[in-house]
Amino acid sequence: MQKATRQHTKEHNRRLVLKTIFEHGGISRADIARRTKLTRATVSEIVGSLMDAGLVTEIGVAASSGGKPPVLVGLVDDARQSICVDLSTDRYYGAVVNLRGKILHRYALQAPQGEERASLQPVYELIDHLMGIATAPVLGIGVSTPGLVDTREGVIRQAVNRGWVDLPLRELLFDRYHCPVYVANDSHMMALAEYTFGHLGQIENLVVVKISEGIGAGIVIGGRLYCGDGFGAGEIGHFSVVEDGERCSCGNLGCLETVASVRAIVRHANVIAEEHPDSLLARRAAAEGISLATVAWAFHAGDPLVRELVRAAARYLGVAIAGLISLLNIHEVILTGEFVEFGDFVLEEVRKEVTRRVLPRMATETHIAFSTLGSDAMFLGTSALVLAEELGVP
Ligand SMILES: [Zn+2]
Repeated sequence: MQKATRQHTKEHNRRLVLKTIFEHGGISRADIARRTKLTRATVSEIVGSLMDAGLVTEIGVAASSGGKPPVLVGLVDDARQSICVDLSTDRYYGAVVNLRGKILHRYALQAPQGEERASLQPVYELIDHLMGIATAPVLGIGVSTPGLVDTREGVIRQAVNRGWVDLPLRELLFDRYHCPVYVANDSHMMALAEYTFGHLGQIENLVVVKISEGIGAGIVIGGRLYCGDGFGAGEIGHFSVVEDGERCSCGNLGCLETVASVRAIVRHANVIAEEHPDSLLARRAAAEGISLATVAWAFHAGDPLVRELVRAAARYLGVAIAGLISLLNIHEVILTGEFVEFGDFVLEEVRKEVTRRVLPRMATETHIAFSTLGSDAMFLGTSALVLAEELGVP
């Protein structure tokens, strides 16, 4: 028992020292001791072991304040690499990421469709490729996926759009690659990315709503990701917003995903093109078929039917977001995912709907904005998860 406690303290101190080095470009052992309140001897021993592991190195000397100038130590950014994988869209994306969240390599392939949609073969192919091009020891594999994910066990409990039920993904990947594996919900990873790397700085609470193939929200409260009792916090995509609406892939009627997900928008756009062959959308679609890009083109070209379709989707999003705001009273709501292609129009429609449905004071105090992290946000989120779990940073 005592031994276990000592081991625990040792690990805690090691993480504390590494975190302190991580947060500084270069820092002396004496400064680390001051900041961590550990003894000089303990700090020197830990720095020595981190140098042996190749994680930190001596990077120069500081200006002397009389006497011998102190030696600075810093993180070796490329000492370890993480494999980050995003399974949340109709293409599977992967990247090799260094300890600072810098993307070193990328790879993507088509996600399986139809009968084959649950196949893991493309996931293995993606990770095989990334493992092969990593140039440093792999710290871990981080996977973001749609659905209910038991992050403790690394099991996807239910992902209706892929047909995965109780899929032990962590175990399967560990058996194949023999390194630590973390599996988490895609919207939760976007929230972690915003919290760790976003433009909002030192805020403790935020909500990220991701609108892609599916829809979900990630919630950070008090600086921690809130996953809920059954890992389903923020599953607003299956919150029913249309009375007697369309049948959803989850089995219920009128879920938000049936009216506002990218998949729903494209499906409804197909109906518009069929019923209105003279519309801008239909004429464009005749040449290239209908994808989100086609719909976005017709939207920006001013096709009134497409604008109405997007307006309705944004309004329904507003209904769900109003619910989140009323429940949580979190002031920062960030929208992300492919739906942002429709620009400020969407933002305005969501705000209007929220204003109609939330206590006026709470509505005016809430900022709803697009993410500024760009298309790599998911990799930032999953790499932040691997770093936090494996090294205790950032
Ligand atoms: Zn549903």
